Amino acid sequence: MIADPKILILEDNQSDADLLRRELKKSGLIFTSEIVQTRVGFEDALQSFKPDIVLSDYSLPSFDAVSAFRIIQSKYPQIPFIIVSGVIGEENAVELIKDGVTDYASKNKLFSLSTKINRALNDTEVRKEKITTDEKLKLQTAELIRANKELVLQNEEKEKRAADLIILSGNLQTQKEELHRANDQLIMQEEKVKSINQELSQLNLELEDRVANRTSALMESENRFRNMMETIPQIAWTNTDTGEFIFYNQRWHDYTGLNLIQTKASGLKIAIHPDDLKKSFAQFRLIRKTGDGGEFQLRGKRADGLYRWHLIRIMPIKGEKGQIQLWVGTATDIEELRLLQQQKDDFISIASHELKTPITSLKASLQLLNRMKEDPSAKMLPLIVQANKSLDKVNVLVEDLLNVSRANEGQLKISPQNFVLSKVIAECCQHIRNEGIYTIKTEGDMTVEVYADAVRIDQIVINLINNAIKYAPQSKEIGINIERINGMARVWVCDKGPGIPPEKLRFLFDRYYRVDNSGSQYTGLGLGLYICAEIIKVHNGEIGVESELGKGTSFWFTLPINVV
Ligand code: ADP
Repeated sequence: MIADPKILILEDNQSDADLLRRELKKSGLIFTSEIVQTRVGFEDALQSFKPDIVLSDYSLPSFDAVSAFRIIQSKYPQIPFIIVSGVIGEENAVELIKDGVTDYASKNKLFSLSTKINRALNDTEVRKEKITTDEKLKLQTAELIRANKELVLQNEEKEKRAADLIILSGNLQTQKEELHRANDQLIMQEEKVKSINQELSQLNLELEDRVANRTSALMESENRFRNMMETIPQIAWTNTDTGEFIFYNQRWHDYTGLNLIQTKASGLKIAIHPDDLKKSFAQFRLIRKTGDGGEFQLRGKRADGLYRWHLIRIMPIKGEKGQIQLWVGTATDIEELRLLQQQKDDFISIASHELKTPITSLKASLQLLNRMKEDPSAKMLPLIVQANKSLDKVNVLVEDLLNVSRANEGQLKISPQNFVLSKVIAECCQHIRNEGIYTIKTEGDMTVEVYADAVRIDQIVINLINNAIKYAPQSKEIGINIERINGMARVWVCDKGPGIPPEKLRFLFDRYYRVDNSGSQYTGLGLGLYICAEIIKVHNGEIGVESELGKGTSFWFTLPINVV
């Protein structure tokens, strides 16, 4: 039962209402109550007081229990409604209860009211519980119906699936049979494949053997090729037909100072002289295009920054069917060769010039002599002398050239004999002294005897004196000194001329070397000292020079002393 129920009392008579409350309290009921007398008050209290039960007088001046009950019936059907009246009879009360009123209590028998209130409230509780239970039941039933439907659906689905499964199983059976058949075929094919596989692996082994043999042969040949590339004195490389470089020999790295990465990145651009770059690339392309190989020249940069001329040769390596497999390139340093070429060209120009002068003079003398042949006169003599001089000059030049070519071929022959050195020197000086311009003073050991070719020694002394006259014209005195040194005789020829720059001294005895080749001040082929050195060499002697700028030059040579 509800503890402390709220009781709304609809009563216009206050003393009746008080009495009612007293009676209820007396009966031991604990409650809260509110008293209303009008319809408005009743409706307000229903909303604000929210009573658990209504006790209503039957008739009020402006309202009545039946109207009040209708309000309760329509808006709050769960609130029990008890009529408390002294005026309605038992019959009316029964009618009202039939109509839905919860109970009736007579104002004269108020002692029974609390029991009726309790019952009514209990009934209401039971009803409420029943409603809740009913609603729960309803929900459960609905849930059950839904679950049932679901089950039905699932069942249908299952049945459908079962039917499908039966069909599937039939299909499976057929497929199984087919699979069996296919399996049998597969087994048969597998057998075949196995035997083919065996044949294949056999073949494979043979092929692998062949490939291994071929590869090692190729590697061997490539190694040989690379070794060969490393042994040749040139820079060498290989590249593909599309121009991609594959291999550079060590000489490339040594010469350019570039490592592999630098080489691959921009080796050619660094190594080729900027002025030759465009032309060289064009040549590379042209040679590749023709497919026949070719050569051209370019300046290659050395690691120290110096450029040297190189001859580039590019050749294709062709396969059996003539297709190009590889390009091989070499770069030969031709700097020296080009210098020699230049020297040779210079020499030919100088030699022709040197020969032309005496020949022109000889020709002029001969022409004059020819005119005089009908009328010989004293004038002919100087012409003949001049012609002889010119001829001598030509002779000397030709003799020099011959000597050089003999020396080159190692055929400079000598006929040694014993003679007193000072005597031969004095004889050859005689001829020069006769000119009367220079003084040649010979000093030293005048007795020393040498074992040598007197004609050749004469040639050397004349050459050295002529050089002194030619290159030291202001030095009117030429000194000759003979001495013994380390078991050899040494001859000095000294002048007090301009001297020779020290850095040029070591080249003086080289072929075609002239200290000042550009100036035309002094004629000469640059062969005299070279021939002297060659003659001394075959005598097993030595030749040398000492010179100081502004002070003079002293040439010396040694000869073996005659050992009696
Ligand atoms: P050529 O006289 O034909 O040029 P040589 O071989 O005799 O050739 O001499 C080589 C060079 O040595 C000469 O060109 C000259 O410059 C230099 N030379 C030789 N003798 C003397 C000297 N006494 N004083 C200075 N320079 C000399």
